[in-house]
Amino acid sequence: PARLRVAPSPTGDPHVGTAYMSLFNRAYATKTGGQFLLRIEDTDRARYVAESEQQIFDTLHWLGLDWDEGPDKGGPYAPYRQSERLDTYRPFVEQLIESGHAYYCWCSSDRLAEMRREQEASKQAVTGYDRLCYGKTRDERAALPGFSETPVVRMLVPADLDTTFTDLIRGDITPPHPDDQVILKADGFPTYHLAVVVDDHLMGITHVVRGEEWISSTPKHQLLYRWLGWDAPRFAHMPLLRNTDKSKISKRKNPAARLLWFREQGYLPEALRNFLQLLGYPPASDDAEVATFDEFVAAFDWAKVNTVGPIFDLAKLDWLNGHYIRSLAPEDLADRIVEHFAFTGEWTPTASEIETLRRAVPLIQERLVLLGEAREKLRFLFVPDADLAVEPDAVAALPDNAAEILDAAAAALAGVAWDAASIQDALKVALVEGLGVKAKFAFAPIRVAITGSRVSPPLFESMDLLGRESALARLAALRA
Ligand code: ATP
Ligand code: GLU
Repeated sequence: PARLRVAPSPTGDPHVGTAYMSLFNRAYATKTGGQFLLRIEDTDRARYVAESEQQIFDTLHWLGLDWDEGPDKGGPYAPYRQSERLDTYRPFVEQLIESGHAYYCWCSSDRLAEMRREQEASKQAVTGYDRLCYGKTRDERAALPGFSETPVVRMLVPADLDTTFTDLIRGDITPPHPDDQVILKADGFPTYHLAVVVDDHLMGITHVVRGEEWISSTPKHQLLYRWLGWDAPRFAHMPLLRNTDKSKISKRKNPAARLLWFREQGYLPEALRNFLQLLGYPPASDDAEVATFDEFVAAFDWAKVNTVGPIFDLAKLDWLNGHYIRSLAPEDLADRIVEHFAFTGEWTPTASEIETLRRAVPLIQERLVLLGEAREKLRFLFVPDADLAVEPDAVAALPDNAAEILDAAAAALAGVAWDAASIQDALKVALVEGLGVKAKFAFAPIRVAITGSRVSPPLFESMDLLGRESALARLAALRA
């Protein structure tokens, strides 16, 4: 059984990448009967955002991606929050210093910036830390310019390091030679590189599955494993999600990079999960794009994961969302709509509105793309007759004989049995046969009167739901 983890940094709204990585990690853990852990990597205090952690828990739960061990759940390797593990990292830093694999560096940030400027100006082939502090005692270094009282600790990366490693998705990769990476910061916190290696080892992680932007870090991590005398886990680097112009989707540029955005819009978690699955993993065939998590897990194989950055095509997600919406039982869809608006805080329907919603859902289910559209589509059912807003362009487009049509409709509906088929028959007899108006024109004024719009859910079913009294009141209101 494999042990995998996702290790998000709580630096703001959760990134959709965190869900995408979680999905693939969770899938493989499930496939092997192993475990999936959630670890919070909060060692970067400058970027720490307090609400972020809870948002990560909530959105991953919403997506149905659950973890076996984590900060909220505990587990045999607790704590699962790196800021609570500082004492764990210390001895390994000492060990690396004592064995000569790491050294103190007192260079001030000004000096490092200056060094970088000079390297760039001289177009040096080898850039990175110039090892000014290496081999010096504190006092020897203090005598030189650019000294800072609080040192960091750096890895002493051998010049002849072979950086090649075998990636489960990509095969052999040889990233560029790294420079002397900082492993302990001046504030006493480990950097990501040290903490990730120590934790992955201590937590028994067998497969590290993460974004491709970490490929260049893997040689540093492998070096740390070797120096500490540990077996390295296997690595799989997932392709990053891309825009149609191939740029990486990022929270700065794309609203859809925020995981919460999908929930705010009214995507179903199962549709988003299926979408993320398709982004990283080709469907078995064109008609196998809709696949449950269990089907995905059953067929899962690292070698099939895409190596090219998948294009983040929201039209495909809309299509999947429509598909999953149509496959819900209407009462489930109504519940999802209510939950959606409770989440966004936009609408708290009353008991009678919920009742209306339950009855009305079948009218919109076929064409609904996002849960968030449901209220607008059904708004005419939730407003009192007197408050129905009729769209100005719908009024402008009414035919010249609209008054005649509305009168004839009102007369025909006064005594008819109140169900969609009877309403339709009565209107057909009165307008198409009685007035000789083509069906296509006859019903437009009725639709505008009833719904306030030229586009609406099916008209006769809508009238049925609305009730005779309201329907007649609305016909009369437009007539006036
Ligand atoms: P930005 O997207 O603006 O760079 P950020 O700096 O908050 O925002 P990161 O902290 O770099 O994002 O990434 C957060 C997580 O999301 C990381 O685990 C990273 O691997 C993943 N990630 C970032 N961008 C992508 C992407 N385009 N596709 C998939 N995963 C991504
Ligand atoms: N904390 C890192 C991130 O936010 C984890 C990367 C990894 O999985 O090693 O992406």
